[in-house]
Amino acid sequence: MTATATDRILNFSAGPGVLPEDVLRQVQHDIWNIDGSGMGIMEHSHRAKVYDRVLAEAIADCREVGNIGDDYAVLFMTGGATAQNHLIPANLLEQGGTADYAVTGHWAKHTAAECKLYGTAHLAFDGGPTDYAFVPSQNELNFSDRPAYFHYTSNNTIRGTQYHYVPETPEGVPLVCDMCSDIYSRPIDITKYGLVYAGAQKNLGPAGTTLVIIRKDLLERSPRPLPGLMSYKVFAEKDSRPNTPPVFPIYVVGQVFKWILRQGGLAAIEQRNVAKAKVVYDALDATEFYITPARKDSRSLMNVVFRTPSPETDKLFLAEALEAGMDNLKGHRSTGGMRASIYNAFPAEGCETFVQFLREFERRHG
Ligand SMILES: *Cc1c(COP(=O)(O)O)cnc(C)c1O
Repeated sequence: MTATATDRILNFSAGPGVLPEDVLRQVQHDIWNIDGSGMGIMEHSHRAKVYDRVLAEAIADCREVGNIGDDYAVLFMTGGATAQNHLIPANLLEQGGTADYAVTGHWAKHTAAECKLYGTAHLAFDGGPTDYAFVPSQNELNFSDRPAYFHYTSNNTIRGTQYHYVPETPEGVPLVCDMCSDIYSRPIDITKYGLVYAGAQKNLGPAGTTLVIIRKDLLERSPRPLPGLMSYKVFAEKDSRPNTPPVFPIYVVGQVFKWILRQGGLAAIEQRNVAKAKVVYDALDATEFYITPARKDSRSLMNVVFRTPSPETDKLFLAEALEAGMDNLKGHRSTGGMRASIYNAFPAEGCETFVQFLREFERRHG
């Protein structure tokens, strides 16, 4: 891990999030002139040789990082994770059919709501009544009778909760996962999933493209005629370029895959993420001053949500953190308080600096 450059601050943004400095340096170079072509990546046609290489490597590296077999298609789509809310039922759910959803926060709730355009969203779990403080265990999931799929959100970006196991579905029911905020933060067993998706801007790159990994048999479900830009099958057949794709974000995501491989792959990334989160949670747990609303067994390694005893002190915390070179710590408007997002690219020494600040702030204001 390279030390953080002195002209950059510690960026705790929940998304778009911090990118690896090595990647940004390479991007700076390739914006000017990629592969000695005399043109930058943003100026190349999506049918040009340079982009053919960029896309082929992004897909190959995505497969290598996640150990994704040939029975899965790797797609780069647009419209963010939000577009997937309707693309998933549009592609996988018979009109009037039922799909199951675990509602564990803001995004999960949105996703279930959009299913209603196509059929019924059965809530296999609803965390609303318990203020989304935890994710369900396997035996807290109540499936309907033969749902078209089961959708869950592996990391709840706003509440700071995360599944630490992969839910099992009834026989033959595809598992669908919104992995926006923890994709490739730990090893993944893709064979357990029918479809995984993630907007790039949390753990993979800039906003503008959505990674979709889908088991190929699901491309054939087609429960209704769809416009090409809504069809997973069309994206798979047309190599993720049914129209002009977001060339630049896809290129950057490809660079991030290469960076993950250079770090030693997902096992090494996970080790580092576990260590980073432990440093922060240990500091928050060390005293009564800081309050962490997420139940301990559901705590996210990516988004650490906490607050001080009062909204006034929270404000002071944010102001003093900014003074100290730490930005984007404000919690989501629906929760208040603070949120420290420590995605893959957030440096370990940044967590140490943050913890020193936590201690000093309490000393001054506790
Ligand atoms: C950020 C986020 C989304 C929304 O992503 P967009 O790309 O803005 O549509 C959805 N789900 C989760 C878990 C997220 O963190």
